[in-house]
Amino acid sequence: MGPPGSGKGTISSRIIKDFNLKHLSSGDLLRSQIINKTAAGLSAKDYIDHGRLVPDDVMVDLILNELHKVEKHSWLLDGFPRTVPQAQALHTKEPADVVINLNVPFEVIIDRIKGRWTHAPSGRIYHTEFNPPKVAGKDDITGEELIQRDDDKPETVSKRLENYQNLTQPVLDFYRSHGVLEEFTGRYSNELWPQVHKFLATKIEPIQYTHYQ
Ligand code: AMP
Repeated sequence: MGPPGSGKGTISSRIIKDFNLKHLSSGDLLRSQIINKTAAGLSAKDYIDHGRLVPDDVMVDLILNELHKVEKHSWLLDGFPRTVPQAQALHTKEPADVVINLNVPFEVIIDRIKGRWTHAPSGRIYHTEFNPPKVAGKDDITGEELIQRDDDKPETVSKRLENYQNLTQPVLDFYRSHGVLEEFTGRYSNELWPQVHKFLATKIEPIQYTHYQ
């Protein structure tokens, strides 16, 4: 959990490098549904482009269906649930053992989102200041063009933060009352990551790397 631009994607990619979890990002999932022009993608696009949340029934079906595919594996959900009905639906079917909240001040977030560029096919995220690509405007791995997501444009960002306050903050109360919420405060992913890693290592065995000479 964490407001848009709090670094959920960055922290998630670090988590899956160090811990053996399958990563499911609701935003990436929706964007790939849009690229593939599926029914869910077509109905979601307008909401996303206007900084609104996709309806709960669409989201719950999409996510539970994906979780079903990784049934035998531990998972990391990023970006879902974002409303209390979504949290309740997940809790009934696949309750989370641990919920991590990234508590990042709103003013830091606004600056961060404005500089964010994405490689659409992979979901890789760059930032002009904090995590620039090797070549300006190009993805490090494929060399393809980076784009600024419609929903990262300034007018949409305020709407997303407003949604977060109204709809997503109550999800934190939901998980707090279930005793699974763990909160971390910081301005940057590099400040949050050591805290998150330390905590997760008390819950899950980190991946053991083999070092070759
Ligand atoms: P994200 O990349 O997680 O910021 O998601 C991008 C956009 O996808 C959000 O602004 C929402 O419009 C939509 N979205 C992602 N996850 C959810 C969710 N759990 N519920 C509703 N809409 C979502």
